[in-house]
Amino acid sequence: MNQFIEFQEQVKAVNVRCANGEITEAERDETLRRMQLPDKQWGDTWMLSPKDEWYRKAKGSDLWVRDYPVDLVDPTNLPPVAEMDLRQIARAVHDCSRCPLHEGRLRAVPGEGSPTADIMLIGEGPGFHEDKQARPFVGASGKFLEQLLNDIGYKREGVFIANVVKCRPPNNRDPQPDELKVCKDYLDRQIELIDPKVIVTLGRFSMYRYFPGASISKIHGQPKRVDNRLIVPMFHPAAALHQPKWRPLIIEDFARLPQFIEEATAFRQEDDIDPANAQQLSLF
Ligand code: URA
Repeated sequence: MNQFIEFQEQVKAVNVRCANGEITEAERDETLRRMQLPDKQWGDTWMLSPKDEWYRKAKGSDLWVRDYPVDLVDPTNLPPVAEMDLRQIARAVHDCSRCPLHEGRLRAVPGEGSPTADIMLIGEGPGFHEDKQARPFVGASGKFLEQLLNDIGYKREGVFIANVVKCRPPNNRDPQPDELKVCKDYLDRQIELIDPKVIVTLGRFSMYRYFPGASISKIHGQPKRVDNRLIVPMFHPAAALHQPKWRPLIIEDFARLPQFIEEATAFRQEDDIDPANAQQLSLF
């Protein structure tokens, strides 16, 4: 039997014992907290919280992040990308061979975070460390990104982090148009499912999705409404690490994120009250 399914059965058994009154809720929670599943293939560890959320600790990381154990998804029976759920996308991305980038990758990086995040951060593509760990932004720029998020009261588990391409381009070269095109399907579906109030673009290719040909030094931190969310272009954390003059700018731009979330919450509420408002806006 698939090791994840076997693990799920064991978790189910604990929940049933609790439902039958054989153990208390506190005992159930403690038992589930202690039950962890080492993933032989990738070296990661999984656990299931009492609320039935999966957490993964990637090899070499101390963090537990909410995630989707892709092995639970049957790869032979996937719907079209536009109908997938987040776990199915992660499964499809892990196995993807739709563009040449799959040939050079160690592991694909589908993206991770809260499936109900207000903020989605979209970077460029996995680098050396991301390719090893199958997780986005885990190198030096990831550390800086986490600090920027912490400064505004967010943890990385509270946002969703993805990239415009899911596999590492050789020697970190720019992603090519055909690679971006293939991966766009996955990213579009992730955005649709998570439905973030604010998308932060990090890096040129992510910015070009919404601001074709723009220059980040001119438009950084200036939000644009697209459908029911705000898109905010920001300097890439790696660029801000290399160019000290951009560091205060990215810190300032991040500090305004809570305000942008409030703005997006307000226009969503207005659209709920008056759907004609939303329709009129989408005409422009
Ligand atoms: N840079 C990116 O744009 N994405 C990552 O995942 C890591 C570094």
